[in-house]
Amino acid sequence: MSFLDPVKGFGVTFATMFKPVVTEDYPRRPEQPAARYHGRHQLNRHPDGLEKCVGCELCAWACPADAIFVEGGDNTEEERFSPGERYGKDYQINYLRCIGCGLCIEACPTRALSMTNEYEIADDDRQRLIYTKDMLLAPLERGMEAPPHPMRLGSTQDYYNFGPQLLADPTFRPSGVPAHPAPVPPGPDPLPAAGLGGAR
Ligand code: SF4
Ligand code: SF4
Repeated sequence: MSFLDPVKGFGVTFATMFKPVVTEDYPRRPEQPAARYHGRHQLNRHPDGLEKCVGCELCAWACPADAIFVEGGDNTEEERFSPGERYGKDYQINYLRCIGCGLCIEACPTRALSMTNEYEIADDDRQRLIYTKDMLLAPLERGMEAPPHPMRLGSTQDYYNFGPQLLADPTFRPSGVPAHPAPVPPGPDPLPAAGLGGAR
């Protein structure tokens, strides 16, 4: 070691003192992750509240960690949970296995599955880290009705053609909506206003 080596070492120290601080004050001040951060999963809904998941199991097949369990069920006209023939009767994600790769959401044909920015899911109980369908389903937002119920938006095709537009439409009303996103006459809003993000 030469005489100059400690001087060089302190040079790095002093140079770093004038750089922006990167230390995060977690958990007192949690930082907002990047918009496309792969956090906890969410099972999304259509604008009338029906579930987007059709129980096809493609997410489970795509998962390299075997973290997803799906059991599909048949919809009936009396008891309908999603547009079309099938719905996700049972749905579980094991966060002891999940590596956050996002392959499951890429595989989903109906955009039923997405990943939120929520990252505080650590736990010391293995059972609690297996998230069940009720924990993963998106909350009911303005204009949505808890399934089972009939298809309020028209045909199955209408759900995929017009659903995203209706979700962003501030004039959308809970039930009896037209099959197309025609303007709805203004009226008193029976439901409390709520944010519409995150359920596409
Ligand atoms: S993010 Fe990756 S590891 Fe986690 S459930 Fe999806 S496919 Fe499996
Ligand atoms: S989340 Fe998507 S891929 Fe997985 S079972 Fe439901 S519809 Fe199929």
